[in-house]
Amino acid sequence: MKKNLFAILLFIPLIGFSHDDCESCRQVEGHPAEGLSEWTASLQQASSSLNWWSATPAQVAAAPCRQSIPSDAQMREWLAAFDSGTKANKNVNGLSLQNESVENIRALEHLTTLKDWRKNPLTAQQPQYNSTCTTALCAATELLGDSGVMALYMQRRYGFTASHLAYNETSPWTRAQLSQALTGVLEFPQGVFPMEEARPFVRFKAGQLPAGYSQSTVADSIVRFFDRWLTLPDGEKHANTSHELGHAIAAETGADRSSAWYALSGWEVQTFQGPTGPVESYKATIKEAIVSGYGSTSPVEDFAESVAAYRYNPQHLRTRSPAKYEFIKHSVFNGVEYTSAAACSQPGTYSAQLAEAVRPRLEAWNPTTADLNRMSKACLSTIFTTMGSGAPGAMLTSSPVQNCLADAPQTEVRQWMNESAASRPWGAHIEPMLRNTHVELPPTLVNRMQGATTSFGAQMRQSLTSVLPTVFQVYLPSLSRSGCQQADFSQAYTYYTPVYQTSPNDPERYRARVQIAESVRQMCLDVVQARSNPNTPGPLKTQEMTSYLKKLFP
Ligand SMILES: [Zn+2]
Repeated sequence: MKKNLFAILLFIPLIGFSHDDCESCRQVEGHPAEGLSEWTASLQQASSSLNWWSATPAQVAAAPCRQSIPSDAQMREWLAAFDSGTKANKNVNGLSLQNESVENIRALEHLTTLKDWRKNPLTAQQPQYNSTCTTALCAATELLGDSGVMALYMQRRYGFTASHLAYNETSPWTRAQLSQALTGVLEFPQGVFPMEEARPFVRFKAGQLPAGYSQSTVADSIVRFFDRWLTLPDGEKHANTSHELGHAIAAETGADRSSAWYALSGWEVQTFQGPTGPVESYKATIKEAIVSGYGSTSPVEDFAESVAAYRYNPQHLRTRSPAKYEFIKHSVFNGVEYTSAAACSQPGTYSAQLAEAVRPRLEAWNPTTADLNRMSKACLSTIFTTMGSGAPGAMLTSSPVQNCLADAPQTEVRQWMNESAASRPWGAHIEPMLRNTHVELPPTLVNRMQGATTSFGAQMRQSLTSVLPTVFQVYLPSLSRSGCQQADFSQAYTYYTPVYQTSPNDPERYRARVQIAESVRQMCLDVVQARSNPNTPGPLKTQEMTSYLKKLFP
């Protein structure tokens, strides 16, 4: 029952395939100091014995394995050490880079290319920058000031775009401010980030808030930090960053909306008709398992608060709910514990165990055509997110699709790890922990898979070329007329993908073009409808879509 928490549909591409999720939602973090009347009496009662946040600044300060911010010199060293050695010349938004590493070029593109919150480039508004700089470091420092080196480092190492040039409605970070936010990132275990190649990590425009946000809002899960965040004590800043990233990680698998998570606090959900649309009301029936006042407001805040508690106040979480502690340990922290300096300084990561478990299978790998087919299909979602940008043939050779096919072996290995973890208690939610685990396997073995899939990529593209024109040419014009744009269509497709991939009768799927297109079209219209009503809960919509599809493809 929280008036300032509402959802918008926000398309964040390339997160993966399991999407009964909240990646489309933004969590608006509030504090009861202002607007207390918004909260119900029962909520105040429920939270009266708990602090509002799950870790106090003093607890954050006392937590083990705190990380210090690297110096600019150390970050420059890292950037140089992790260059692949491939150099190029490229004009990036007016910046003429010469003999620069391809990694730095790509990072500077992310930092300087203006886009909306859905990551669509705002080409018409794109400024061209005048500079004598020929390197990305020089340009980043010139354009972003004293946070420039850190922004380039964060982009490459953690996949976060900490640049006011990349989004409207932002203000520049100072190095001191960005350092506080980065601390929260550094204090997750290695391998959790990058989550994706580019995710916002910005200071929202000074003096402003997005429409509908209250003055007490500190940050949201997009990941945007507001003026109020800057006024928090340092420890609260770090814990809040942890909280937001907890939302983002959970959104990948829907862990925070899973029945397993709901059960741990006995969450009960009621949906009723509010003045502007359906409103969800939440009640935790196992109050003793809740870690903070804010965590008692909804299952997703319960999850995000538990993430911050796990890192900075673990004994509290473990005392309140040992089962939640285990859930967060496996679904967010890769098995690393922060109960003592000894525990976190010598982490036995879950992903390392899983990598070891699949190694014999990788060594014996001798793929069938069906194996390769499955691996290439993992890129269908990527293909659909690039659609509309040209002829289907050109789309299939676009760099996102090429990159996806190149990453197919890693995706396959991750799938094996997933299988080996499936029988473990929290196996359904560990996928985020696996995204970077290929680095724990011998590169020669992964490269062997790479070689086999390269030749198959051409065959796959040919197969898709025969299917896609029907979908695009027949349906896109009518979709545009009904307000269902390319991005909506792509989003609908990503919702559809898990059902499609798990449905039976595999050989028939490609032939079911009309059904595919019709179901995606219907979902697209649902997305538009949901978008027109800012109070429509995104995940509910996803469930509706999913059930609709299950009827179509029983
Ligand atoms: Zn939150």
